[in-house]
Amino acid sequence: MDRLAHSVAEIQLYFILTPCPACGLTALRPRGPFDAADAPGGRTIVRAACARCLREYPDGFVVSPQPMGVVGEVMFNATTQPSELIDVVGWIALYRTIVEQAWQETDKRSARRLAWEAGLCLDEALKFYPRGERFPISEGFFTPESRARFQSFRGQFDREMVLHHRRQAPNLTAEERRSEAGEARGGWWKFWQKHIEPRMGWQPDHG
Ligand SMILES: [Zn+2]
Repeated sequence: MDRLAHSVAEIQLYFILTPCPACGLTALRPRGPFDAADAPGGRTIVRAACARCLREYPDGFVVSPQPMGVVGEVMFNATTQPSELIDVVGWIALYRTIVEQAWQETDKRSARRLAWEAGLCLDEALKFYPRGERFPISEGFFTPESRARFQSFRGQFDREMVLHHRRQAPNLTAEERRSEAGEARGGWWKFWQKHIEPRMGWQPDHG
Protein backbone atom coordinates (compact mmCIF):
# COMPACT_ATOMS: atom_id res chain seq x y z
CA MET A 1 0.00 0.00 0.00
CA ASP A 2 1.27 3.48 -0.83
CA ARG A 3 0.91 6.07 1.90
CA LEU A 4 0.87 9.84 1.57
CA ALA A 5 3.93 11.71 2.81
CA HIS A 6 4.42 15.47 2.60
CA SER A 7 8.22 15.25 2.30
CA VAL A 8 11.07 12.79 2.46
CA ALA A 9 11.93 14.32 5.85
CA GLU A 10 8.48 13.35 7.12
CA ILE A 11 9.19 9.74 6.12
CA GLN A 12 12.53 9.89 7.95
CA LEU A 13 10.80 11.17 11.08
CA TYR A 14 8.19 8.41 10.76
CA PHE A 15 11.02 5.89 10.74
CA ILE A 16 12.48 7.30 13.98
CA LEU A 17 9.20 6.20 15.53
CA THR A 18 8.81 2.96 13.59
CA PRO A 19 10.87 -0.16 14.21
CA CYS A 20 11.47 -2.51 11.29
CA PRO A 21 8.54 -4.98 11.17
CA ALA A 22 10.99 -7.78 10.29
CA CYS A 23 13.78 -7.41 12.89
CA GLY A 24 12.32 -4.93 15.37
CA LEU A 25 15.25 -2.49 15.19
CA THR A 26 14.79 1.21 14.57
CA ALA A 27 16.80 1.28 11.36
CA LEU A 28 14.39 1.88 8.48
CA ARG A 29 15.69 4.30 5.84
CA PRO A 30 14.14 5.78 2.69
CA ARG A 31 15.98 4.69 -0.43
CA GLY A 32 17.07 7.57 -2.62
CA PRO A 33 17.52 9.39 -4.88
CA PHE A 34 14.35 11.44 -4.54
CA ASP A 35 14.54 13.71 -7.58
CA ALA A 36 11.19 14.76 -8.96
CA ALA A 37 12.62 14.32 -12.47
CA ASP A 38 12.79 10.56 -11.85
CA ALA A 39 9.16 10.32 -10.87
CA PRO A 40 7.01 8.27 -13.27
CA GLY A 41 3.77 10.12 -14.04
CA GLY A 42 4.93 13.06 -11.93
CA ARG A 43 4.58 11.09 -8.70
CA THR A 44 7.54 10.43 -6.47
CA ILE A 45 7.21 7.04 -4.80
CA VAL A 46 9.75 6.49 -2.08
CA ARG A 47 10.58 2.95 -1.03
CA ALA A 48 12.40 2.09 2.16
CA ALA A 49 14.44 -0.71 3.64
CA CYS A 50 15.99 -1.66 6.95
CA ALA A 51 19.64 -0.65 7.33
CA ARG A 52 20.23 -3.63 9.64
CA CYS A 53 18.41 -6.65 8.18
CA LEU A 54 18.09 -5.12 4.67
CA ARG A 55 14.45 -6.18 4.26
CA GLU A 56 12.17 -3.94 2.24
CA TYR A 57 9.56 -1.95 4.15
CA PRO A 58 6.19 -3.20 2.87
CA ASP A 59 4.63 0.22 2.19
CA GLY A 60 5.70 2.76 -0.39
CA PHE A 61 5.27 6.50 0.14
CA VAL A 62 3.81 8.93 -2.37
CA VAL A 63 5.47 12.27 -1.72
CA SER A 64 3.20 15.24 -2.33
CA PRO A 65 4.03 18.03 -2.90
CA GLN A 66 6.96 16.92 -5.04
CA PRO A 67 10.35 17.03 -3.30
CA MET A 68 12.28 20.11 -4.35
CA GLY A 69 15.72 18.74 -3.54
CA VAL A 70 16.84 21.96 -1.85
CA VAL A 71 19.98 21.15 0.09
CA GLY A 72 19.75 22.03 3.76
CA GLU A 73 16.10 23.01 3.64
CA VAL A 74 14.09 21.06 6.16
CA MET A 75 10.41 21.29 5.51
CA PHE A 76 8.37 18.48 7.01
CA ASN A 77 5.02 19.52 5.59
CA ALA A 78 4.54 22.73 3.65
CA THR A 79 0.77 22.26 3.56
CA THR A 80 -1.76 23.14 6.27
CA GLN A 81 -3.03 19.54 6.24
CA PRO A 82 -1.98 17.38 9.19
CA SER A 83 0.32 14.43 8.61
CA GLU A 84 -1.17 11.10 7.57
CA LEU A 85 1.91 9.21 8.76
CA ILE A 86 2.55 10.64 12.22
CA ASP A 87 -0.21 11.45 14.67
CA VAL A 88 -0.24 14.14 17.36
CA VAL A 89 1.30 11.76 19.91
CA GLY A 90 4.05 10.91 17.44
CA TRP A 91 4.90 14.58 16.77
CA ILE A 92 5.15 15.33 20.48
CA ALA A 93 7.34 12.23 20.97
CA LEU A 94 9.57 13.49 18.13
CA TYR A 95 9.75 16.94 19.71
CA ARG A 96 11.02 15.43 22.97
CA THR A 97 13.42 13.08 21.24
CA ILE A 98 14.97 15.83 19.11
CA VAL A 99 15.16 18.30 22.00
CA GLU A 100 17.08 15.68 23.98
CA GLN A 101 19.41 15.29 21.01
CA ALA A 102 19.90 19.06 20.98
CA TRP A 103 20.82 19.05 24.68
CA GLN A 104 23.48 16.40 24.04
CA GLU A 105 24.89 18.15 20.97
CA THR A 106 28.21 19.84 21.78
CA ASP A 107 28.33 21.97 18.63
CA LYS A 108 26.29 25.09 19.38
CA ARG A 109 25.02 25.68 15.86
CA SER A 110 23.98 22.05 15.38
CA ALA A 111 22.22 22.18 18.75
CA ARG A 112 20.37 25.33 17.69
CA ARG A 113 19.35 23.73 14.43
CA LEU A 114 18.08 20.59 16.17
CA ALA A 115 16.10 22.73 18.63
CA TRP A 116 14.60 24.55 15.64
CA GLU A 117 13.66 21.24 14.01
CA ALA A 118 12.09 20.11 17.28
CA GLY A 119 9.92 23.25 17.19
CA LEU A 120 8.78 22.32 13.67
CA CYS A 121 7.48 19.03 15.11
CA LEU A 122 5.22 21.03 17.42
CA ASP A 123 3.95 23.01 14.42
CA GLU A 124 2.93 19.67 12.92
CA ALA A 125 1.28 18.58 16.20
CA LEU A 126 -0.70 21.84 16.27
CA LYS A 127 -2.24 21.06 12.86
CA PHE A 128 -4.41 18.50 14.69
CA TYR A 129 -6.00 21.18 16.91
CA PRO A 130 -9.22 22.72 15.61
CA ARG A 131 -9.15 26.51 15.78
CA GLY A 132 -9.84 27.70 19.32
CA GLU A 133 -9.88 24.18 20.77
CA ARG A 134 -7.74 23.21 23.71
CA PHE A 135 -7.18 19.59 22.70
CA PRO A 136 -6.60 17.77 19.40
CA ILE A 137 -9.40 16.30 17.28
CA SER A 138 -10.04 12.62 18.01
CA GLU A 139 -8.82 11.76 14.49
CA GLY A 140 -5.44 13.12 15.60
CA PHE A 141 -4.84 9.85 17.45
CA PHE A 142 -4.20 7.09 14.93
CA THR A 143 -3.99 4.08 17.25
CA PRO A 144 -5.58 2.82 20.50
CA GLU A 145 -2.13 3.28 22.11
CA SER A 146 -2.12 6.95 21.13
CA ARG A 147 -5.62 7.45 22.53
CA ALA A 148 -4.56 5.76 25.77
CA ARG A 149 -1.51 8.03 25.93
CA PHE A 150 -3.77 11.05 25.59
CA GLN A 151 -6.13 9.79 28.32
CA SER A 152 -3.22 9.24 30.71
CA PHE A 153 -1.31 12.45 29.96
CA ARG A 154 -3.89 14.99 28.85
CA GLY A 155 -1.83 17.86 30.22
CA GLN A 156 0.91 17.23 27.66
CA PHE A 157 -1.62 17.77 24.88
CA ASP A 158 -3.10 21.00 26.22
CA ARG A 159 -2.59 23.58 23.47
CA GLU A 160 -1.18 26.04 26.01
CA MET A 161 1.49 23.51 27.00
CA VAL A 162 2.37 22.82 23.36
CA LEU A 163 2.57 26.56 22.65
CA HIS A 164 4.72 27.06 25.76
CA HIS A 165 7.28 24.60 24.39
CA ARG A 166 6.96 26.07 20.91
CA ARG A 167 7.93 29.51 22.21
CA GLN A 168 11.13 28.05 23.66
CA ALA A 169 12.30 26.70 20.31
CA PRO A 170 14.53 29.03 18.29
CA ASN A 171 13.47 30.35 14.91
CA LEU A 172 16.24 30.25 12.34
CA THR A 173 16.21 32.97 9.73
CA ALA A 174 16.19 31.92 6.08
CA GLU A 175 19.77 33.19 5.89
CA GLU A 176 20.81 31.07 8.88
CA ARG A 177 19.21 28.03 7.26
CA ARG A 178 21.09 28.64 4.03
CA SER A 179 24.46 29.56 5.51
CA GLU A 180 24.50 26.54 7.77
CA ALA A 181 23.09 24.20 5.17
CA GLY A 182 26.18 22.15 4.47
CA GLU A 183 27.32 21.84 8.05
CA ALA A 184 23.87 21.33 9.48
CA ARG A 185 23.11 18.73 6.86
CA GLY A 186 26.02 16.73 8.21
CA GLY A 187 24.53 17.09 11.68
CA TRP A 188 21.13 16.10 10.37
CA TRP A 189 22.42 12.85 8.91
CA LYS A 190 24.52 12.18 12.00
CA PHE A 191 21.31 12.55 13.95
CA TRP A 192 19.46 9.95 11.87
CA GLN A 193 22.37 7.53 12.10
CA LYS A 194 22.15 7.33 15.88
CA HIS A 195 19.25 4.85 15.69
CA ILE A 196 17.60 6.53 18.60
CA GLU A 197 14.59 5.00 20.27
CA PRO A 198 11.52 7.15 20.89
CA ARG A 199 10.82 7.77 24.56
CA MET A 200 7.10 8.27 24.51
CA GLY A 201 5.56 4.86 23.85
CA TRP A 202 4.33 5.76 20.40
CA GLN A 203 3.00 2.74 18.52
CA PRO A 204 3.37 2.74 14.74
CA ASP A 205 0.41 2.07 12.51
CA HIS A 206 1.90 -0.15 9.86
CA GLY A 207 -0.93 0.62 7.45
ZN1 LIG B 1 15.15 -4.93 9.97
